[in-house]
Amino acid sequence: MTAKNTVRVRFAPSPTGHLHIGGLRTALFNYLFARHNNGKFLLRVEDTDLKRSTQEYMDSQLEALKWVGIEADEPYFKQSERSEIYKKFIDQLLSEGKAYKAYTSAEQAQERAERMRKLYGTDSSEYEEVEADSWVIRFKIDAGETITFHDAIRGEVTFSRDYFDDFIIARADGTPTYNFVVVIDDILMKITHIIRGEDHISNTPKQFLLYKALGVEPPVFAHIPLILNKDGGRLSKRDGATSVQAYRDMGYLPDALCNYLVRLGWSHGDQEIFSRPELIDYFTLDGVGKKGASFDIQKLNWVNQVYLKATSDTDLILEIDQLTPNWSARYINHNLLQAVSIYKDRCHTLIELRDYIDVLFAGPLVVDLPDTEKCILKDFKNSLETISWHKEDLDKHIKLFLEEKNIKMPNLGKPLRIALVGSPNAPAIVEILLVLGKEEVIKRLANLCV
Ligand code: GLU
Repeated sequence: MTAKNTVRVRFAPSPTGHLHIGGLRTALFNYLFARHNNGKFLLRVEDTDLKRSTQEYMDSQLEALKWVGIEADEPYFKQSERSEIYKKFIDQLLSEGKAYKAYTSAEQAQERAERMRKLYGTDSSEYEEVEADSWVIRFKIDAGETITFHDAIRGEVTFSRDYFDDFIIARADGTPTYNFVVVIDDILMKITHIIRGEDHISNTPKQFLLYKALGVEPPVFAHIPLILNKDGGRLSKRDGATSVQAYRDMGYLPDALCNYLVRLGWSHGDQEIFSRPELIDYFTLDGVGKKGASFDIQKLNWVNQVYLKATSDTDLILEIDQLTPNWSARYINHNLLQAVSIYKDRCHTLIELRDYIDVLFAGPLVVDLPDTEKCILKDFKNSLETISWHKEDLDKHIKLFLEEKNIKMPNLGKPLRIALVGSPNAPAIVEILLVLGKEEVIKRLANLCV
């Protein structure tokens, strides 16, 4: 591939909220596509909605991208700083007769709003807010039946001409509109492929026409299917957490979240777990499906569990410290590494792991056991006083104790786990005994047996 054809893609978030997991998936697809093709991944801040855009949200989105290891290859810019550039292109279209100043009366504004609402529905980005009684700049669309463009994922896409009015490219106050600035920026940034959510597909014909009017070859468009909720609707806040930070705070590992999100809409055979280099190696737009994929928290939990198991105990402690500052410092005198190693296989998230370990070291608050079980535990406690605290000895000792009492492992194991860590659902008895240490085990059992 020559330098001229170097792949250049961009992620263009609007800083009107925290980074949405759908946004992260779009960023990932772009990032992987760039890396796969030895191209460039760029960032652009679409902050033309000045009322809703904030620096705080932008910082939060950048932080979320950094958390998953995605950084832009070139410095990014904000659209709000480029009005001079956009004005130059608007003037060019005006002088070439490809755009014109138009007056919109109150009735016309209402009539247009009604028509657009009927065509696109109320929550569409197409719904054009036209200020009544104002002068705007409209792009002139030549008569024609349809507008057709090629989409790398969906093939030929055709829109009927009914869907387009001569659309606004600059508002009454002179500020350019979304569809216009996107095209100017994509041209100036030399973007070769626009990979974005399917919710933007109805913008594409307008953008396509702008490329033509400006005499520039349009880039390749690839609209990726949306992430759906379990009922097949669009994933929204009502379906639970949607921001990347929320998933970080719930204890998902960045690589696990990325692995999970990339698989929502993209596949490579039946493979589910991918290292980052594998993703880069395998990612092509051919692997992206046309159908929306449903967000499934159970599957994310499974993927996260796979990643937790594969992460070293020390790294897991560092990760938990990120979520709960100085967490590990509390356990400086405990067998923390060993605790992590016996619990990590049972956990789906870092928070679950942290909470299990907190209970393990603090001991259960209340233990409610029938007297018969308390008696078994009392005898067990007494039997421990003289033995040495090593795995083989403890294994042997437990076996003998069960034989002597003529009981089975669960008769001891269940109440012992409840007494020591508050739940029957816990790692192997010997492992718990070893992590807690003899003194602590005897103390906890003694408290119970009085
Ligand atoms: N700023 C748009 C968004 O956040 C992206 C526009 C684009 O990718 O063309 O949805």
